[in-house]
Amino acid sequence: MTDTAPTVTNWARNITYRAGAFHRPDTFDALRTLVAGSARVRVLGSGHSFNRIADPGGDGVLLSIASLPPLIDVDTAARTVRVSGGVRYAELARRVHAHGLALPNMASLPHISVAGSVATGTHGSGVGNGPLAAAVREVELVTADGSVVSIGRGDARFDGAVTSLGALGVVSGLTLDLEPAYEVEQYVFTELPLDGLDYAAVAASAYSVSLFTDWGAPGFRQVWVKRRTDQAPVDFPWAAAATEALHPVPGMPAGNCTQQFGVPGPWHERLPHFRAQFTPSSGEELQSEYLLPRSTAVDALYAIDDIRSAVAGVLQTCEVRTIAADPQWLSPAHGRDSVALHFTWIADTEAVLPVVRRVEEALEPFDPRPHWGKVFTVPSTVLRGRYTHLADFRHLAQSLDPTGKFTNAFVRDVLGDFLHPLS
Ligand SMILES: Cc1cc2nc3c(=O)[nH]c(=O)nc-3n(C[C@H](O)[C@H](O)[C@H](O)COP(=O)(O)OP(=O)(O)OC[C@H]3O[C@@H](n4cnc5c(N)ncnc54)[C@H](O)[C@@H]3O)c2cc1C
Repeated sequence: MTDTAPTVTNWARNITYRAGAFHRPDTFDALRTLVAGSARVRVLGSGHSFNRIADPGGDGVLLSIASLPPLIDVDTAARTVRVSGGVRYAELARRVHAHGLALPNMASLPHISVAGSVATGTHGSGVGNGPLAAAVREVELVTADGSVVSIGRGDARFDGAVTSLGALGVVSGLTLDLEPAYEVEQYVFTELPLDGLDYAAVAASAYSVSLFTDWGAPGFRQVWVKRRTDQAPVDFPWAAAATEALHPVPGMPAGNCTQQFGVPGPWHERLPHFRAQFTPSSGEELQSEYLLPRSTAVDALYAIDDIRSAVAGVLQTCEVRTIAADPQWLSPAHGRDSVALHFTWIADTEAVLPVVRRVEEALEPFDPRPHWGKVFTVPSTVLRGRYTHLADFRHLAQSLDPTGKFTNAFVRDVLGDFLHPLS
């Protein structure tokens, strides 16, 4: 199906995509023909990013693959699943679980597409858990001339091919590693002090741990602790157990959130904070997030505590998570075990941006890498210095996409102009 330049916005409605045309091919051949015949293309996943990363700009083509026949092909013997790029985690997780298998981790919500999530380095939490891209073993791309290229683990290009910002081609399919299905118990604790925080111990106290605060006062209002039932019991001496079910955003209904109070349940109904059938988070918001070396967590939290009242003025909630080092060249967790400081802001760009800049100034000493799908203002000249494999990625992008068909202003800003001699 084809629409000529309808109004298309992202999930948060803070971005209206600028495009000459919006295409939703419903066959694979139509997708290939469309790509080959277009001068500039960006793919839209489920639209959960908060910036112009998916925006083709000007007369470019915005392309959705959500109308292609969805494929979720589980290989129980190999413990892998081949999935088409437009599939969302909610559907993928249900199907995988039905085969007695599981993904190693999930983000806070299951509503997001697989291809769009791994393209931006989307992650959950856990000292042993890399970003969602860590489960990917092969990527299938429709490249600029319409041909199909598969890049698997072991290929020298693989570490550039998964967290690719959509700059290599249309991700039409991915193969993911699975493991035997497992159960998770979710516990919520309240009022964890910042003073005396042993972040390494708190983060390692269960399979996946998230700290939440509104920065209205020092310390954390909630700690969400997700324990695999095949691992040690939870021992959380630092805060008291919650006495009622909670939502991480104050005032939002706890019924939108996954089951708490340690009731065991399937991995995909506990690892996300938000249930698939409800609006995740608050629904009226902007988001920013910065990944820093995990060893700097406490110092970085004190740096935010120093500007607490400015942050609290435009904040709905702040979440602190941990991510294992990732080999993907453009992963914000590349090469370093990371702590992620996430901010769910009010839905007011003008009020939020000055505070985003203050947060970035406060975190500057810790070498922060912003989440590619969220709001940030770090200049690209600074960002480029934080990615040691940027030149490798540019070579890869140029080899698969010599005319820069899949670049846009966002990608050109981050990488520099492809068509100039590579430095
Ligand atoms: C309520 C909410 C909660 C969130 N929670 C988390 C969280 O827990 N952890 C976290 O890390 N992030 C989180 N995010 C951010 C989100 O995971 C990322 O923005 C992610 O990229 C969303 O995937 P998407 O499919 O919506 O991508 P989109 O925003 O649609 O696209 C993102 C990028 O992927 C590219 N892309 C998408 N599909 C394809 C494809 N098939 N082929 C090639 N390129 C493609 C696009 O061109 C673009 O560059 C959250 C966002 C929201 C709105």
